[in-house]
Amino acid sequence: MMDKSLFSLPGIMPVMGMLVVFALVLSASIIGEAVSLSAAITTMWQGGSLAHALPHIALFFGCFALQALVHHLQDGMLDRFANKQVECLRGELLAGLFRTRGQMVRDNGTAAVTWSVLEGASQTENYLRIILPKLVGVVVIPFVLLICSFVLDLTSGIILLVMYPVIIFYMVMLGKVAKARAENQYAKYTRMSNHFVDTLRGMDTLRAFGRGRQNGEQIYQTSEDFRVATIDTLKVATLSSAVLDLIATLGVAGVAIMLAFHLVDGSIGLFAALAVLVLSPEYFKPIRQFGSDYHASLDGKNALAAIVGMIDAAKETVPAREHAVAPWSPYSMLELDEVSYTYPGADTPALKDVYLSIEGCQKVGVVGVSGSGKSTLASLLAGFASPDGGTITIDGATFDADEGGLGFSDWQNQVAYIPQDPYVFGVSLRDNIRFYAPESTDEQVMRAVELVGLDELLAQLPEGLDTVIGEGGRALSGGQAQRIALARVLLDDSRRILIFDEPTAHLDIETELELKSRMLPLMEGRLVIFATHRLHWLADMDWIIVMEDGDVAEQGDYRELLAERGALWRLVENMNGGAR
Ligand code: ADP
Ligand code: MG
Repeated sequence: MMDKSLFSLPGIMPVMGMLVVFALVLSASIIGEAVSLSAAITTMWQGGSLAHALPHIALFFGCFALQALVHHLQDGMLDRFANKQVECLRGELLAGLFRTRGQMVRDNGTAAVTWSVLEGASQTENYLRIILPKLVGVVVIPFVLLICSFVLDLTSGIILLVMYPVIIFYMVMLGKVAKARAENQYAKYTRMSNHFVDTLRGMDTLRAFGRGRQNGEQIYQTSEDFRVATIDTLKVATLSSAVLDLIATLGVAGVAIMLAFHLVDGSIGLFAALAVLVLSPEYFKPIRQFGSDYHASLDGKNALAAIVGMIDAAKETVPAREHAVAPWSPYSMLELDEVSYTYPGADTPALKDVYLSIEGCQKVGVVGVSGSGKSTLASLLAGFASPDGGTITIDGATFDADEGGLGFSDWQNQVAYIPQDPYVFGVSLRDNIRFYAPESTDEQVMRAVELVGLDELLAQLPEGLDTVIGEGGRALSGGQAQRIALARVLLDDSRRILIFDEPTAHLDIETELELKSRMLPLMEGRLVIFATHRLHWLADMDWIIVMEDGDVAEQGDYRELLAERGALWRLVENMNGGAR
């Protein structure tokens, strides 16, 4: 029932200390209220005038005001604390997202990570605000009130003392059940939201294969599971509050009955009896509140656990060590020696013992059938993934696997990575093109637009360069997205290394050939790694690497390799269906 992860939050101890002080003041003011109220009633009961009772009444209202003040101060402190914590958590989560280079999203799902950063963080904030004062109050306030009750009346004190462990025992039991239910509910929620995002993303595929209806049924099922889990949680919460209230009421009733007996036989005075009677519901109040708020804040508790879990997992990922490498030049040298890589959870390596040696500004074509490891090699070279073994050497400096491979900024800032479908942000065409070079002028942007052949698109856009494209704006074709990727490279002259991963795979042959004529000049004076299965590119490459099953099967000059009738020749034969 106690959330241990709370105590690992930075700066929690001073806050807890202040909460104990607040709880002590609250206890004192509750006692003040009970005592002054009883004194006022007793005075008037014994025939005293209102004037005699007035000081007691004043004290009563004083205590009342004091409580309001304490609550106000406490709320302010908790607001600030929770706010700061959540800001920290959000920051760490985002930092972890970048440090793990997206692994966090692959492990947890897009929806779960998005939810954690936005909604989960707010739920955590709410949780901290609610649960911390309750946690302290449930210990401090009953303890002080119990001592006071013992002083006033021994029997009542004993009854209250006996009831406490009963309630605690019962709450622990119910807490266990509720926790399991709430965790189940959270798991169902994550599943539902990931499934939903997946469906949105795969909408075209689903429709193309006529799977829309079936998927709709699956969505219905996952949301139905979530609904059942939610109701389950609510059932436990409602039931436990009811039982808790019942036990507390029984406790108060027990005290009242005993007090009545003692009043009748004269063993207790009216003042003490009244004071104890007023105190006993207050004695149970913190634990009842804790009980109901505990259920209300369970989702916040799960959110905190999920966020802390993601952050901790991210911390285990080794961040790439920062290194200095000189800008790529015609004399630079990149070597891979026995480099291997296995995807997390995969049985067989996607790359094994890759050996490469690339010098200066070459165009290197990487070919191979689907699944041979082209994309994996490209992402290793771009620094997205770090090899499991082997060494990467740039100009004599070695970057080992355990240092994060090439994922350091000095290298990545030189690299432009262009995948099959480059991401188009939901911002203006201008800002999409200025992605790597945000300071570019409109003139520079227009020149890039013309060079990559985006002028036709631009002519159709109602607001020209200001038109919002991509998600939430005007949708683009695959060819147009590729052109934007190329325009980005054009604007940033400092990126001397271009890594393409099958950039033309989705394009029709006319668009591909037209883009090819625009791409080739861009490649001059740069190091180009060009993964493709379209063989017509190979004649334009300076060096060919043929991948087979994660291995480099052969490498060399295109024509020489063909003449050797080895792996490349076999690949060409296969692709041409043996027609050559
Ligand atoms: P290519 O780009 O040549 O088609 P990849 O580099 O994408 O090949 O894949 C190489 C191997 O790694 C394949 O066997 C593929 O199944 C596997 N693989 C690719 N991506 C992942 C991934 N995210 N998780 C696990 N295995 C993967
Ligand atoms: Mg690929």
